[in-house]
This record gives sequence, C-alpha cells and structure tokens, in this order.
Amino acid sequence: MGKVISIEKCYYCNKELAERDMVIKPIPLVCKNGKKRNYKRKFHINCVEKFVAEHEDEFETKKETSEWDKVYKYFKLDVLCLPEDVNLPDFATKRLLGLRVGKFMPNAINTRVIKQGHSFSTILATMKLANIEIQKAFKTQAFSDMQHKINLAMFVINKHIDFVEERIRKVEEINSKNQEIEFKKPTVAKYIKKSKKRNFDFI
Ligand SMILES: [Zn+2]
Repeated sequence: MGKVISIEKCYYCNKELAERDMVIKPIPLVCKNGKKRNYKRKFHINCVEKFVAEHEDEFETKKETSEWDKVYKYFKLDVLCLPEDVNLPDFATKRLLGLRVGKFMPNAINTRVIKQGHSFSTILATMKLANIEIQKAFKTQAFSDMQHKINLAMFVINKHIDFVEERIRKVEEINSKNQEIEFKKPTVAKYIKKSKKRNFDFI
C-alpha cells in the first residue's frame, strides 16, 4: 500500500484542514498536579467559534484556574504558613482538589469544571471563615508530621463548607431574582451585549 501522508485535521469537525484555513487555539487542560497547561489545537476558521460555544464549560477552566491559584496560595501561606518559595505538599493539593470533586482525594486527572463537590470560590470562602479556628487548633496540638496537620485543617474546612455553600447559594438566588427584574427593563439589551463579549486568544 502507499505510504501514509500526514494530513492536518480540524480538532472540531475532524475534516481535512488546509494551511490557509487554519487557526491554532490553545485549549486549557488540567494536569495531575492541578496546574493548567495549554495544548494547541488546530481548527478551521469557521469551526473554532462553534467549538468554543459548545465547550463553554471547559473554557470556564480559565476562571477556575485563577480561583484554584487563590485556594492554593491561601492554603499554603495563610493556613499552613509556609514560605512563598515552597510548594504546597502534594498531599494538600490532593485533599483540596478532592473537595472540588467531592471525594477524599481525586482519582481522575481532570478535576476542573465538574459539577459536583464544591467550587473553588466556596472552598476559598470557607478557608477564610475557618482559618481562625484552624490556627487555634494548630496551637493546641502537636503534630507528628505535615500530613497530620493538613488533615486537621481539612477537617475544620469540611465542618463549615456546607454552611458556606448554602449561604452562597442563597445569595446567588437573590442575585438571579434581581437580574430577572432587570431583564424586564428596556435598558437591558445594551447590558447583555456587553457581558457576552468574549476575547479570543488566537495565535
Ligand atoms: Zn473544522
């Protein structure tokens, strides 16, 4: 048989992709360590927008990543009081990502944008609320190792997280009710347009 010629295919429609129609877009995927990496994918010019529209959830990853950064930093600097130049222990990263997916520790690689467990913003709000209690607990206990200390912090966070989740849900409910009222006002068309605007990072 003839030799295999590599043909570029579109990531969206899987059809042949000529150089002149090609757009390369980085797609954010989450690695094992919880850090985001962008993988470049090739699209037809017409396909990239369809892809983004259909995968809106995954593009929320961008927002999630910055929220995860805040969770990571707060837990490292304010809860465990580790210095800036030290990485958060793997065990802590796994426990925090576990809260995100609603498990003790996540076993799937892609933990982001999963609609179960708690959002990173809920986790962050809970950590801030619980930190005084965590610091008090740290002072009254001796720890054999870091894992033990992390488990105590997670125990206190777990104790409060459902309460915080409920509070946030109620606030969002009130906000969405307010928005419904706003939608009935004639000035709203302009407002919607503005918020729907999206920036593409074509390379
Ligand atoms: Zn295509």
